[in-house]
Amino acid sequence: MYDVFRSRYTFTCPTHEKVHVSLSSFRRLVRLPGAAHPALYQVDYECRCGDVHSGLVADDDLDWAPLGLAAGTFLNLMTSRRESAADELAEVSALRIKAGEWPWSFFCYPEERPRPVFPSSFALLAPGGDALGLAVRCPVCSRVSVNLVSLEHVDLPFHNDPSVGVVAHVFSADVGQAVEEFRAELDSSAFDVRRLALE
Ligand SMILES: [Zn+2]
Ligand SMILES: [Zn+2]
Repeated sequence: MYDVFRSRYTFTCPTHEKVHVSLSSFRRLVRLPGAAHPALYQVDYECRCGDVHSGLVADDDLDWAPLGLAAGTFLNLMTSRRESAADELAEVSALRIKAGEWPWSFFCYPEERPRPVFPSSFALLAPGGDALGLAVRCPVCSRVSVNLVSLEHVDLPFHNDPSVGVVAHVFSADVGQAVEEFRAELDSSAFDVRRLALE
């Protein structure tokens, strides 16, 4: 599902069969009602064929696979042995989180503070030039904020932009309505710049 060496999710496409999709090519994530372990998300993603397709991703794959917790094995060319990448990557990730570094973060506008976050809290993503509009449902206050971030901020765990653009607007909790507001704000906007350093 997630290829940790390419930082890509694997989906199927009617034209290309297997496609590798980065997190920043996701456009919308909706948590499906029901299943809790694992929780399932419907992900709409922009495919290299030009269409937007939907796929299902479990919360583990969304949040933990990029940190190496489901990486499987790889061939170590130095020893010619298959070794577990998961163990090493997971260990490195755990150490960094323990040291206060977060794999992903965003600026919560209603709370006026940066917060750590996982990709399952991303709701909408919209590309614009070399930046990305990112709507995040805050895991703490449940309200939706829109940040303007780099692609790396989303695609690479532990790459946090030093500062991000923040839309000065409190979005509605309803995703359908938030989509409309999101588009309108991204087109018009007025982004404030906020530092993303987490305390
Ligand atoms: Zn496709
Ligand atoms: Zn919040």
